[in-house]
Amino acid sequence: MKTIGVLTSGGDSPGMNSAIRAVVRNAISKGCKVMGVQRGYEGLVNGQLEELNISSVADIIHRGGTILKTARSEEFRTEEGRKKALNVIKVFDIEGMVVIGGDGSFRGAEKLSQLGIPTIGVPGTIDNDLAYTDYTIGFDTAMNTVVDAISKIRDTSASHGRANIIEVMGRHCGDIALYAGLAGGAESIVIPEVGLDIDQVCRKLIKGKNRGKLHSIILLAEGVGGAIELGNIIEEKTSIETRATILGHIQRGGSPTAFDRILASKMGAKAVDLLMEGQGNLVVGIKGNQVFAMDIGEALSQEKKLDYDTYDLADILSM
Ligand code: ADP
Repeated sequence: MKTIGVLTSGGDSPGMNSAIRAVVRNAISKGCKVMGVQRGYEGLVNGQLEELNISSVADIIHRGGTILKTARSEEFRTEEGRKKALNVIKVFDIEGMVVIGGDGSFRGAEKLSQLGIPTIGVPGTIDNDLAYTDYTIGFDTAMNTVVDAISKIRDTSASHGRANIIEVMGRHCGDIALYAGLAGGAESIVIPEVGLDIDQVCRKLIKGKNRGKLHSIILLAEGVGGAIELGNIIEEKTSIETRATILGHIQRGGSPTAFDRILASKMGAKAVDLLMEGQGNLVVGIKGNQVFAMDIGEALSQEKKLDYDTYDLADILSM
């Protein structure tokens, strides 16, 4: 393989840059040229790409966001759009692609493979919502951002004796709320997989207050509902003063943690190795600290399940 392409697509996540760096440098070390595609599949359809060399990816391992930019492309969802993308791929002599993104981006990667372009998916999403892999790139950073926010909110929460609801990202998957909640010692964790039991949340708050607890943190995944509305209901039911914080897009940014940088480096390099071996239509994942590859369709057909043991543990430890 003489030339490969790399793009980032869908929602951005910290560590995407570390993955791009790994793709570029591993490919160059093996005598392969790398074309960087701007703005995901949109750039592939419109021919927005340029060669990336060793210096193009210097000084980015620690940077949030993605130097290649990302986008959502309606055109690439159509056969006509994909035909345009294929033409661009051919014009630039690209023989294999690395797609860094979430499940939507992987569906696009599967389509590219079906068009005869060997394509490898690298999981870049803060949500950790892909069942086939233990971790996705960006999740650890987002979780740490939330844990940091919990500590700060806990300080002010304790000063005023208030309850605080922190709304975090996670429409269908509650992993950010669950793991940040466990790490941050949140009193209640409300996630889409389990749903909201408002009376249970209130009972815990009241019991804590009666025991002399000065503060309470409720971690709410956005898929369950809004923090402000939940705060109003809790205040009404418990008479405990309640404040709401919606963390929003700060969870998507920031310098990737060492964990995410290492994960992205290993996964990005593995994607290139697979292409060099002549493989395609695969996604890279990590299980039991081992990076592995799996058929895209098979990976996407796996249903993400909540880790109930961790959920129960968080509940027990928060008392
Ligand atoms: P994410 O990768 O973060 O899940 P999206 O679901 O928005 O993000 O997907 C990113 C892009 O992948 C879409 O804008 C579209 O261009 C492409 N894509 C998603 N699903 C398909 C599909 N079934 N066929 C072709 N392209 C797709």
